[in-house]
Order: sequence, then structure tokens, then C-alpha cells
Amino acid sequence: MLYRTVPKTGDSLSVLGFGCMRYPSKNGSIDEERTIRQIRHAIDAGVNYFDTAPVYHLGKSEPTLAKALQDGYRDKVKIATKLPHWSVRERADMDRILAKQLATLQTDHIDYYLLHSLAKESWEKLVRLGVLEFLDAAKAAGKIRNVGFSFHSNLETFKQIVDAYNWQFCQIQYNLLDEHNQAGTAGLRYAAEKKLAVMVMEPLRGGSLAGHVPEAVQKIYEESPVKRSPAEWALRWVWDHPEVTVVLSGMNNEAHIDENIRIAGSALPLSLSPDDRALIDRAKATFGQLMKVGCTGCGYCMPCPAGVDIPGCFALYNAHHLFPKDKSPRFQYIGHHGGLLNKPSNAGLCRACGKCEKACPQHLPIPRLLKEVKGDMEGMMGIIVPVLRGGLWCMNAASRVRSYFSRGGTP
Ligand code: SF4
Ligand code: SF4
Repeated sequence: MLYRTVPKTGDSLSVLGFGCMRYPSKNGSIDEERTIRQIRHAIDAGVNYFDTAPVYHLGKSEPTLAKALQDGYRDKVKIATKLPHWSVRERADMDRILAKQLATLQTDHIDYYLLHSLAKESWEKLVRLGVLEFLDAAKAAGKIRNVGFSFHSNLETFKQIVDAYNWQFCQIQYNLLDEHNQAGTAGLRYAAEKKLAVMVMEPLRGGSLAGHVPEAVQKIYEESPVKRSPAEWALRWVWDHPEVTVVLSGMNNEAHIDENIRIAGSALPLSLSPDDRALIDRAKATFGQLMKVGCTGCGYCMPCPAGVDIPGCFALYNAHHLFPKDKSPRFQYIGHHGGLLNKPSNAGLCRACGKCEKACPQHLPIPRLLKEVKGDMEGMMGIIVPVLRGGLWCMNAASRVRSYFSRGGTP
């Protein structure tokens, strides 16, 4: 594992940080045993930065991390968690939330404390309610050690926030496709010049840059004499920037954890060759042309009062366009969102109330995009779903009849 230094404090942090928003699940909830095993395995391999938040896993991320950090693991890591501005109505809420977090995480201090997902309005609201005094007091009391903020807005606002307080660090969304989005490269450099450590979230754009990438992108990667997976190309691109301190990955699969740990062992800054960079530039351009919606799957827009699974619909819409020969995204859309197997959660249910748009850190025009999804993915769905549902009903009925006779006609 490689480590990079926090400029203002000298803390040595693993270049790979564990994002605690995508733990493995089982039967609809966190698979606690597997999560704890994964977290401890990562710590044993040198990961020492864990990023959680009250909102992750609907409140279950922090307590699960606390369980994983029992048996002596707490002392080996730095915990990062966040103040949710949407839960703050007055100054006292900040103290109440922090006290609850300390209790939930079973610790007497938070190593890295962030104001969560700032944009202009949320920042101004928190300042008005006295957040800077709160941070000063919590730091003086030893309840938090380093202060930072995570960010999803424009470069101008980012610079204003960087300049407004003596932060030790910040957290930005940064990856191949977001070089010029939100804070972007300009923001990364600005923060580093001000001696802030920079933690990077969404390095793989919610998984879109890893695994099964579009054929056109895969072909570009295969031209390289150095064989690397799409995830490795994308992660190395982020780590190549010397201004980056920690790259967070929301890991939940043992093979991916081991792959990330392996890459993190050799991803030195400025280690990509000019040929590597030229190849990545071509992959970036191709991705940019194919991706329909810049949704990261963060889920901040949920729940939708009309029942739309917003990130789910966008993920399958993107997959449908990224892999044009593959029919499965359309079938999955009908199966998962069309009401065949579950309650309907398709784009066509959107009533354009606008609630989700206000919460989206990517500032996506969600209702308009959902109209596009509906037009592209839902043709014939109104006919196909009842027909398939009828087929399923017949299959179930036949199986019940078979089972009745196999028991000799007893119920
Ligand atoms: S605009 Fe549509 S998708 Fe968004 S919250 Fe309202 S009904 Fe749901
Ligand atoms: S639409 Fe926006 S808020 Fe919703 S999951 Fe996608 S990026 Fe996140």
C-alpha cells in the first residue's frame, strides 16, 4: 500500500480509502458478516481511511463500521464522517448530530469530519447557523481532529468555500469523465495550492468506468502493450495526479478489493507514460460520446413520492446505450421497473414534482431525462408486462397443480 501525506498535519493516509456507502447486501439489508470481513481484510492490507456518513445505507453504515472496528481495529484507522446539512435547522442540531455519531461509531473522536455535500445554498445556510463556531468548538474539545467538506457544485463556489475557513481537507468528485465538471482539475489544483488534502469520491463514476465497459472503449484499452483492466486505467488516471491524497472506492466485492489494493501498491503520482495518457484521452472521449445520463447512482434523489427508481432507471438507460448489441438492459428494465416482478418503479411514473432535482448533486434535469428514458425504454411495456405476468401466473398455477398431484391429491 502506498501512502500520501496530509499537508497541514503530516498524517499518512493510504492512497486507497474505503467508501462505506456500498456494503454488500443480503436479503435487502447489509450483509454484516461479509462487510466486517471485507473491512478487516482491507485494514490488514494497509487501508487506513474509512469514509462513512449518517445517510449511507439509510443510517446503517456508521454502526456497521463501528462493529467492524472492534477488536483493536479502531486504532489502526482514521474515520471520516459527515454533518448532513439537510438535518440542521439550528446550531444545537450540529452538536446533537455529532454526539450521536460519536456514540454510534463507539469512539471519542472523529478523525476527519466533513460538512456533507456542500453547494452554495447549503454552505450559506450552515454559515448563517454558526457552523464555523461549531467546528472550532468541536475541534477544541477534541471531538473532531481534521475539518473538511465534500462538494458537488461549481468551481466558483468551491473556491469560495476553500477560502472561507482553515480546512485540513476537502472531498471532490473526480474521474475520467469529470475532469471539467464541478470542482474538476482546476479545483483540485486550487485546493492543493492552499495545502488542503484532497479526497476523491466517485473515481469510477458509480462503476461505469469499470468492469464491462463499451466495446469501443475496451478496444482502445486493448491497444496498449501494458494489460490493465478498465478499473485500473481509471484509478491510475486519478492517482497520477500528485494533488490527490486519498481515492475512495465503495467496495463490496472481494476480488475488486484485492484488485484495488494491488493497484494502490504501485500507483505513484506522475507514473503514467505519455502513451498511457494519450490512450486514456481517447477512451475518455469515447465514453463521453456514449454516456446518456451523468448519474453516479448516489441515491440522494430518493425516495421519489411517485415511486420511480431514479438511479435504477438511469443505470439501465445508460447500459442500453453503452452496449447497443446487448438486449438485457431493456429486459431488466421491464423486469425490475415495469412491475413484472416488483412494484412498478419506471420512469413513466414521474409526475414532474421536481423534488428530486433539488437533491441531485450532479444537477441533472431529472424529470426531463426521465421523459427520454420513458420514450426509449417503455415502448410496448404496457402490453408486454401484462402478457408476461399472465405467463408467470400460468406457470405458478401449473406448478401448484403438479405439486398437488405429486402429494397424492392432499392439500
Ligand atoms: S420529479 Fe418525478 S422522479 Fe423526481 S421526485 Fe418528482 S415524481 Fe419523482
Ligand atoms: S439522479 Fe442525481 S441524485 Fe439521483 S442517483 Fe443520479 S446522480 Fe444521484
